[in-house]
Amino acid sequence: MIDRTHKLTITEHEPLARYTSWRIGGNARFFANAPDEAALREGLEWANTHGLQPFVLGGGTNLLIRDSGFDGLVLRLRDQRIRVEELGDEALLWAAGGAPMAGTARRVSSAGFAGLEWAEGLPGTIGGATFGNAGCYGGDIAGVLRRAWLLADGRVEEWPRELLGYRYRSSALKRWEGRASTRPIVLAAEFALRRGSSEELRATMARIARERKGKTPWGSSCGSVFKNPPASSAGVLIDQAGLKGTRSGPARISERHANYIVNEGGASSDDILRLIELARGEVFRRFGVELELEIQILGQGSGL
Ligand SMILES: Cc1cc2nc3c(=O)[nH]c(=O)nc-3n(C[C@H](O)[C@H](O)[C@H](O)COP(=O)(O)OP(=O)(O)OC[C@H]3O[C@@H](n4cnc5c(N)ncnc54)[C@H](O)[C@@H]3O)c2cc1C
Repeated sequence: MIDRTHKLTITEHEPLARYTSWRIGGNARFFANAPDEAALREGLEWANTHGLQPFVLGGGTNLLIRDSGFDGLVLRLRDQRIRVEELGDEALLWAAGGAPMAGTARRVSSAGFAGLEWAEGLPGTIGGATFGNAGCYGGDIAGVLRRAWLLADGRVEEWPRELLGYRYRSSALKRWEGRASTRPIVLAAEFALRRGSSEELRATMARIARERKGKTPWGSSCGSVFKNPPASSAGVLIDQAGLKGTRSGPARISERHANYIVNEGGASSDDILRLIELARGEVFRRFGVELELEIQILGQGSGL
């Protein structure tokens, strides 16, 4: 421990690999778990006082952290509260930014509320999903979110869905770079649900769980590395470029799903970046299609 504020314990040189699904990443110069909004505010203030850049981490399931690490304060949002307000045949789900996406979907579905079944097995947090417009199996965040509460320059703001500027796997938050103000943090989000049959919901989620299990490569990954280009599939293009199974050290373009890069144990961030560059270059050379990253990259370094 290097410092303690009222609500936070701040550690130094925290290895970040353990907080990412790729199991890759150097150290955070400073790190703290933020259990709620007050803790998050304290962290942001602490970073500001020390002239450090803050970074908000959710489940680390859409993130490549470079081995060089991050020279600021990583705040891992851990507020996991959820509550459901019933309104006749409809309901509103309020979920804090650190609540697990898949666990929340399961909880509301097993309580008989429809709307989030598609998120069965979707890794990460409500905050990360709201940031990236996560989606799968016919649904996405943009389709169910009504509004979100964001911490923006020290103030809590309520944003209706329209302000979040959702597009396929993208949002105004994800496109924030280049703006003068710091990127707002998702404190909580509200989703529109409706009453459903528990039995049907359970069956739908069991089907999705089976499909997901059948498609997901074994090993540590970050899900799909690239967005699908319009009317196409990044995985199919990478496969057609003959890259399935290509390795860089212990990192490998999955044989099962070519848009996944799997860390088979001990891969470096450069291994992943090399495979990303290779897939991009080959797909462009062969098909003239520019693949766009779905994942975020954190940390200083060369490449991309
Ligand atoms: C096996 C596997 C399968 C996957 N399948 C899918 C899929 O089917 N569909 C899909 O869309 N994705 C999929 N993903 C990717 C991932 O699950 C989603 O992108 C997820 O929403 C990321 O959430 P996270 O909390 O892990 O975000 P992180 O990886 O922690 O962060 C990603 C970005 O979001 C930002 N962020 C996180 N929390 C907040 C917050 N509270 N406020 C503001 N910004 C925040 C971070 O700063 C970072 O820039 C998969 C990943 C894995 C490992």
